[in-house]
Amino acid sequence: MGRPEQFTPHSLTKFQDKLIEWFRTNRRALPWRASRDSYRVWVAEIMLQQTRIAAVLPYYERFLARFPDVRSLAKAPETDVLKLWSGLGYYSRARNLHRAAKEIVSRHAGKFPQKLDEALRLPGIGRYTAAAVLSIAYDAPLAVLDGNVARVLARLRGVRGDLRSNGRWQRLNQLAQHLLAHTTPGDWNQALMELGETVCTPQSPRCDECRVSRWCGARALGLVEVIPAPRRKPAPVRMKIAAAILRDARGRTLLVRDPGAHEGVLFSRMWQFPAVAVSRDAATELAAHLRATLGIDCANGTPLQALRAARHGVTFRNITLLPFFARVEKLPRLPRTRIIALDHITNLPISSATRKIAVAGQRHSTTNLKGLGGYSAGGI
Ligand code: SF4
Repeated sequence: MGRPEQFTPHSLTKFQDKLIEWFRTNRRALPWRASRDSYRVWVAEIMLQQTRIAAVLPYYERFLARFPDVRSLAKAPETDVLKLWSGLGYYSRARNLHRAAKEIVSRHAGKFPQKLDEALRLPGIGRYTAAAVLSIAYDAPLAVLDGNVARVLARLRGVRGDLRSNGRWQRLNQLAQHLLAHTTPGDWNQALMELGETVCTPQSPRCDECRVSRWCGARALGLVEVIPAPRRKPAPVRMKIAAAILRDARGRTLLVRDPGAHEGVLFSRMWQFPAVAVSRDAATELAAHLRATLGIDCANGTPLQALRAARHGVTFRNITLLPFFARVEKLPRLPRTRIIALDHITNLPISSATRKIAVAGQRHSTTNLKGLGGYSAGGI
């Protein structure tokens, strides 16, 4: 294969035209592409952070149906926002989106700011998101650089090594800005992202279908399969979390808001079952946790009953959820606790880990508790 075509000014224009033309003909019909409305673009960009398009689609439709514009989002209680986000993960995104919507209404007359420095001051908006929203909604000449774009650019220029290393990422940023089609930056950014997602994929890129292959250094040098270098991932951390599904005679259970060590990782500061990280004897460690934090004594009756464990993955953590069931005479009323019918929990904004535990509890209640009397854990 010969040398790749260089980016002279004339050749760069041809390169941009080819890619934009390909994008306009082949782009996937995604709901956030239906208009250039800054609110819709912004919500999509936040949802798509660390989340696959297929997973985002139903959430995006529901979210937009409930909050069709920034004012409706700003006015809503946080619980409603989190509820619609429930299951999508990384809940700080939803909290920041909500806070940013309030700021946009109060300080920017309900319109996503057009200036980069103002956009960057909003909660949850980093350089990438700001560049994506401003270029797509307002044609701001700002290049985006995410994992997909970085891979495409690294292959085009034959950049080897870890792309996330400081020096390389910075150089790729400069290259992205240099290649940017200033006449149509929104389409240009989306074209590069789309190429990375659908043609210049991490494994087995479809170079034969690639409209810009003649500019590609990796293809010319036979390095497509080795660029980019695989990222060194941290070894997965294994952990076990035991959670207590307490149930009183009225079918109610207790939820807490736990400011503990696994906050943000698993339960995201949302309502959750009392839970603790365990290492050896999960039932004993959980019982000790219940006694210390809620004053519930499981030793005075039937021990906690283990339900079926569930797997839960969060980034590099491999978590085993160990739900336990216990009937109690009385649920304690304490600060940062909530008593609610077990059957109603899934109506609350809860993390997907809590949802899995709730489902185990509901299943257990349905199959085992009909007609049973008596209580196991000592009341308080
Ligand atoms: Fe990617 Fe292949 Fe196109 Fe190069 S030729 S940009 S490796 S799809």
